[in-house]
Amino acid sequence: IRWYPGHMSKALEQISELVRKIDLIIEVLDARLPYSSSNHLLEQVRRNKPCIKVLNKNDIADPAATRAWVQHFQKNSGVRALPLVAKNIPEVKSLVKLCKQLVPHRGNPGYPIRTMVVGIPNVGKSTLINTLAGRSIAKVGDRPAVTMRPQQIPLNNGILIFDTPGLLWPAMDDQGGAYRLAASGAIGANALDYTNVGVFAAAYMMRRYPELLKERYKLAELPETPYEVVEAVGRCLGCIMSGGVVDVHRAAETFLRELRAGKAGRISFEEPGTPEDVEAELLRFA
Ligand code: GDP
Repeated sequence: IRWYPGHMSKALEQISELVRKIDLIIEVLDARLPYSSSNHLLEQVRRNKPCIKVLNKNDIADPAATRAWVQHFQKNSGVRALPLVAKNIPEVKSLVKLCKQLVPHRGNPGYPIRTMVVGIPNVGKSTLINTLAGRSIAKVGDRPAVTMRPQQIPLNNGILIFDTPGLLWPAMDDQGGAYRLAASGAIGANALDYTNVGVFAAAYMMRRYPELLKERYKLAELPETPYEVVEAVGRCLGCIMSGGVVDVHRAAETFLRELRAGKAGRISFEEPGTPEDVEAELLRFA
């Protein structure tokens, strides 16, 4: 998806229009980076409608970080955070239950809870809608909503979903956010250099999950710099060029692929209230 200002304001306008007609917003965030996978402009068009922040992909997020995020969001009244895995039927049923708690006057035959699922690309909107529906529904637009008619999907659990236009663009208002989105796979790394993103991820892992790094890549001791960590990962995974030199670009790419798939363990890229100096320190390496 290529966002440009016209697309952005149009998508937001359409969401704003649809919000009038609904009872509840389901905002899907990536549990590994709830801040950067959100779009704060949603708050401006929310019209004080209740909102559930689904922290999706919780299967690959750090459980301690997810707990901290749930507490963090609890402080904001009218907003509830629910960690889940979009394919997990019992967990998605608990989402339906929460919808009914937040909109107690609806959710009966003839009076469904009207809701819409919004979120950035790739965060799991389609997967969630399919699980809610109990069947496979056409892929939610993977293009901005501008070209689409809103669709209503009645579900047999008292929910009615407007499935488009739910597409938001990520909040890339800071450089760290852009790097975290790229490291997590939420956005393609092509805008940023792969090696830089890999080195950034290595700096973060050194700081936050050194033991996972050592274990997965068989390192007795962590090297001094993030760049050397990427090299060490490359040696461990066999990203070697002729002459025995580590292919750092390929090492970074493979490293990121592993982190994104949870191969090094369950990791989160953000915690609530990370101090600015930590942020600045990590960016120094990118
Ligand atoms: P959408 O663009 O927001 O509709 O996202 P999709 O539903 O198409 O999901 C994007 C990718 O994330 C797909 O590869 C899904 O399989 C994957 N995905 C969705 N939900 C989860 C989840 O809870 N855990 C994990 N690990 N992957 C998920």
